[in-house]
Amino acid sequence: MNGDHLHSPNSVRPAIAIDGPAASGKSSAGKMFASQLGYRFLDTGLMYRAATWDAMNNGIDINEPEVVSAVVGKMEFSVIDGDFGENLILVNGQDVTRFLHSTAVDVSVSPVSAITAVRKIMVAEQRRIATTGSIVMVGRDIGTVVIPDAPLKIFLTASAETRAQRRYSEFIANGTQVDLADILSSIEKRDRIDSSREDSPLKPASDAHMVDTDDLSLNQVVALMFELSREII
Ligand code: C5P
Repeated sequence: MNGDHLHSPNSVRPAIAIDGPAASGKSSAGKMFASQLGYRFLDTGLMYRAATWDAMNNGIDINEPEVVSAVVGKMEFSVIDGDFGENLILVNGQDVTRFLHSTAVDVSVSPVSAITAVRKIMVAEQRRIATTGSIVMVGRDIGTVVIPDAPLKIFLTASAETRAQRRYSEFIANGTQVDLADILSSIEKRDRIDSSREDSPLKPASDAHMVDTDDLSLNQVVALMFELSREII
């Protein structure tokens, strides 16, 4: 792989959209892809996770959309870049990133993300960030709603079993004991809610490149993304 089609460091390029279901590898592959392109990276899932964490931290019942929306509307948050191209989320000036992948947030994030008022807040911020350009954005509705005119859209898929196994291996590598069956059922539940919600359901844009990652390594997925980017850069 070489970088002969990379843009000059000073030119700003349109944002690239990557979508896919839970644990499909969007974040890991998207971050590596962004780094190879010399782009920044935005994991929009973290923004919905921060909204969920904030609501829970304020003792809100996440089944009350109006109350959740009111709290999220007042949440002061920002996304900053970490030292390794990763995203850090600040809520009221505090870095809350380490709380955002807890089981409690995992369970509640899809219902919170289905609330239209919450999506409005997040999408407005994501569109603002997209206009700064030269950024790879990953999520569920990036190609369909956030930046429908993105010149490159990629939709990652993999079976729920493969995705659960990957997530399980990550937990084990971090020394966290988890149950594979629990992870699989949590992923399937999130997929169900994310795909069936009325507002911006998870689905590929009609012009997205579909990439089935079941039999691909992380490096192979990134290499494929890089190949696809040759069409636009
Ligand atoms: O990508 P991740 O699994 O961290 O996303 C967490 C949740 O945030 C998803 O299950 C989905 O409910 C929500 N989400 C969304 N739209 C996005 C990104 C994430 O609704 N663009």
